[in-house]
Amino acid sequence: MAKLLLLVAIVIVVALLARHLFAKKQAQGQAAPRSDGTEEAKLVRCVECGAFVPKAEAVAVGNGFRCGAGCKPH
Ligand SMILES: [Zn+2]
Repeated sequence: MAKLLLLVAIVIVVALLARHLFAKKQAQGQAAPRSDGTEEAKLVRCVECGAFVPKAEAVAVGNGFRCGAGCKPH
């Protein structure tokens, strides 16, 4: 009987640990897309050379976006 109780206790502990780990993993999974930012990962087209660059790296100009220092307006 004591063995059975011990087994039940182990199962409960494992279940709680698994739930804890799952909740932690889920929380990280939810946090990750927010930190990456879908808006920053979006590609925009350079008005100067036509290259697609991440919006975070692009420089906003009057008529759209252009890529970094490598592409200066004329
Ligand atoms: Zn460019």
